[in-house]
Amino acid sequence: MTDPLTPVLTKHWLGPESWTLRHYTELGGYQALDKALETPADDLIALIKDSGLRGRGGAGFPTGMKWSFIPQAKPGEEPTGPAAKPKYLVINADEGEPGTCKDVPLMMADPHSLIEGCIITSWAIRAHFCAIYVRGEVVHCIRRLHAAVREAYDAGHLGKNIHGTGFDLDIVVHAGAGAYICGEETALLDSLEGRRGQPRLKPPFPATAGLYAAPTVVNNVETIATVPAIVSGGKDWFRTMGRERSPGPKIYSLSGHVERPGQYEAPLGTTLRELLDLAGGMKDGVPLKFWTPGGSSTPLLTDEHLDVPLDFEGATEAGSMLGTTALMIFNETVSVPWAVMKWTEFYEHESCGKCTPCREGCYWLAGILRRMVEGEGTEADIDTLLDVCDNVLGRSFCALGDGAVSPITSGIKYFRQEFVDLCTAQRRHPEVDRIVELS
Ligand code: NAD
Ligand code: SF4
Repeated sequence: MTDPLTPVLTKHWLGPESWTLRHYTELGGYQALDKALETPADDLIALIKDSGLRGRGGAGFPTGMKWSFIPQAKPGEEPTGPAAKPKYLVINADEGEPGTCKDVPLMMADPHSLIEGCIITSWAIRAHFCAIYVRGEVVHCIRRLHAAVREAYDAGHLGKNIHGTGFDLDIVVHAGAGAYICGEETALLDSLEGRRGQPRLKPPFPATAGLYAAPTVVNNVETIATVPAIVSGGKDWFRTMGRERSPGPKIYSLSGHVERPGQYEAPLGTTLRELLDLAGGMKDGVPLKFWTPGGSSTPLLTDEHLDVPLDFEGATEAGSMLGTTALMIFNETVSVPWAVMKWTEFYEHESCGKCTPCREGCYWLAGILRRMVEGEGTEADIDTLLDVCDNVLGRSFCALGDGAVSPITSGIKYFRQEFVDLCTAQRRHPEVDRIVELS
């Protein structure tokens, strides 16, 4: 592997007023846009396909392939069917996966890389409207995006006849209302259309029937912010970083028991051991006990997995998933059943209620875990938990249900004895007493 620190997306983050158009332009910003606007749209899609860029929102779907699914009229032919409809680009900036803090810092420090990526992508998929859907809670980030979009309009990067090419594009920054499920792309689209955000049946995928039932590319912030760098640097440069099937740089967010929590950009395939080196190691030297590679929806890993290459394949081979590369690090002082209960309460709260396995499953899972932590559980409850998980996993309408059971099944897989001890002790977990005292 090359230098583990690969600043591509985070290169300018520490510059003075890095979020301004002036700063971005001084460092070569919007030059990739000129290059893109001189490139035929289909060639741009081919470039992104060949670069191997994969979605940075969690699922790792090939980005160029997603763009190529947008139905387009054949050259010289009148568009018919879906190809005749307007095309839309929607940016999923509803970063909500527990522990995930990469997109908001990116938008705060360098919003123009996202905006430039939006314009290039819209040109490639032939869209004239782009919506950036941001979590409503991050008001500071929404303000920053509004200011950056205004700057881009004033400089002629947005609006009518961009850079004199005849290409028009409008970008709207839309604030969501803070539901985790609205990060699911079809729930996000419903919310954007002004309805209650709940997942839609897929297929049809948004690429054929998305916003207002028109062809829509939904991509994550980090994915689209990577596009200008690929246009400037080319596919071969991009592939010098990362691994064969997961190329390029990635922003890993580290939180929990590390000396210097934060965002670390490194090539895909970097290991937790290497990331801990960058982050100053475990806090106060207390040993690692468990961690998540990509938020709480990805199965827990342990200190045996320090050398797992964190790319889409490596994390899966280790029995987990790369997810959002939100590494939550826990030292040996943390109780697994307690942490698992807190995550399950989150899913219980955020389940949208549309399907029975997730709505009822999360309710019962959280209830059983609370009973255990209160010192009223029995060993049989551990198997009941696994049984309920079995009825949620693969039977829920969207990925939230599958994600909800991940901490429980992996927690029991690696730390079953802790659950047994909690049940046999028949006394409250000390953390409950501490919280009762605090309240
Ligand atoms: P998915 O695999 O169903 O889809 C990934 C993307 O590929 C989607 O945009 C989908 O439309 C597209 N796609 C897949 N198959 C397609 C096809 N045949 N034709 C056209 N398009 C196709 O995954 P998902 O449910 O969208 O996302 C799940 C992931 O989201 C999880 O891995 C999780 O890590 C992540 N997640 C992220 C956050 C966050 O805050 N960023 C929050 C929760 C979950
Ligand atoms: Fe809603 Fe959960 Fe079903 Fe997804 S899995 S549709 S969040 S109830």
